[in-house]
Amino acid sequence: MNTYLDYQSSKPVDPRVVEAMLPYFHNKFGNPSSLHATGDVATEILEESRAAVGEFINADQDDVLFTSGATESSNLGLIGYAFRNKDKGNHLIISEIEHISIHNIAKYLEKNGFVVSRVPVDQYGRVAIKKIADRITAKTILVSVGFANNEIGTIQPVAEIGKFCKDRGIVFHSDAVAAEGLLPIDVKADNIDLLTISSNDVYGPKGVGVLYVKKGVRINPLIIGGGQERGLRSGTENIPGIVGMKAAIEIMRHEMTKETKRFKQYRDRIIKEVLHTIPRCYLNGHPTERLPNNAHFRFDGIEGESLLLSFKEKGISVATGSACSSKTLEPSHTLIALGLLHEEAHGSLEITFGRFNKDEDVDALLGVLPGIVRRLRKLSPLYKEEA
Ligand code: PMP
Repeated sequence: MNTYLDYQSSKPVDPRVVEAMLPYFHNKFGNPSSLHATGDVATEILEESRAAVGEFINADQDDVLFTSGATESSNLGLIGYAFRNKDKGNHLIISEIEHISIHNIAKYLEKNGFVVSRVPVDQYGRVAIKKIADRITAKTILVSVGFANNEIGTIQPVAEIGKFCKDRGIVFHSDAVAAEGLLPIDVKADNIDLLTISSNDVYGPKGVGVLYVKKGVRINPLIIGGGQERGLRSGTENIPGIVGMKAAIEIMRHEMTKETKRFKQYRDRIIKEVLHTIPRCYLNGHPTERLPNNAHFRFDGIEGESLLLSFKEKGISVATGSACSSKTLEPSHTLIALGLLHEEAHGSLEITFGRFNKDEDVDALLGVLPGIVRRLRKLSPLYKEEA
């Protein structure tokens, strides 16, 4: 039996979502661009899905664009906005701990005549408004800061950053993939102009995402074709996937409060027990401003890779560093941005849990962790009993 504690990297699709999607593969297979009755069925559910996403993030339905996932949404938001508005300025600001997709979009923009500043974070991974303020120039057109960090779980002061940008006429983008379904998102109260979310992160299917584009914020399309999604994202809509995202969001809206309460109990129990029972072990990320489903540690004298493999032998799936780049030998850029040394970043353990975890999964993790750490430290030339 496998105990899965890596929900940040992938989530199972909720069986109720699969059920809701099934009719749209065969019986209700229409294309929303068709004007006949079969097309009307597709148009209707497409607009209902747009409304459901709108309600979930407190956005106007018309401002919701469906894409193929978070990466595409952020590409469309950042590149689409930058190119459309280059006459206003060529400077963008992101944080040092953005997801790799945002970092690589920033590099692409730099190769295309834009200038990007990367704002440092404090030891807990929080962005300070002052650091953003220090980098603003007359040419700054956009700031992008993730709602919460996908690795260490630190929650950003998004509404304050949004307000700061709004007061200066700067567009604010937030990648909310790590936060969706765990924290309430309200694009109006949070002063967000462009928002990236994905379906899988609320237990919907992969390959579907949303970019919220506030009315009046102009972007260029990146995909040109039949003019779907207001001409901003051409290509026949993935109706079964979009229906899946709608179903997932509707379930989430009902279950989020109860679910996150349960996660907080797991998280607090894990953090308390691990820090109490294992010497020379530290929590990464913010002690209180952290996602309810995230516990992230580092252990002196231990290599994350061996930790992960030892857990694998015991039938437990956990992560070290970001799953999106865990096949590289580079330490996580997020952990380095916190000020950790390379070896400290490499000795990290990321535990993220979700809807289908039970108390027994937490028992299983806590049951084996101290033994694994003791064994690996015995084998480690880096670890001496007393530092
Ligand atoms: N942003 C964040 C915070 C992520 O964790 C991920 C990966 N799950 C992405 C963006 C990219 O998502 P996708 O690969 O589904 O496009």
